[in-house]
Amino acid sequence: MTVSDATDPELCPVCSTPYDSVSLHDRGLLVNLLDNERYRRVCFEPVERDGRPHVRFFHHTHEQVGADD
Ligand SMILES: [Zn+2]
Repeated sequence: MTVSDATDPELCPVCSTPYDSVSLHDRGLLVNLLDNERYRRVCFEPVERDGRPHVRFFHHTHEQVGADD
């Protein structure tokens, strides 16, 4: 599930770094990036949509995160 709309910020609100994609989730899910070749990390931001709690995921590639992490 990938949601992209006008409310997406330009930079990740968690780490202030450019991100590759953003997704919105209304329930728990498993994230395993140990062997992920595309993404280096994912930041999680709690948000509210239509009065319900969601979690927004910001996906960072290895290039975007760079060597400072
Ligand atoms: Zn981030």
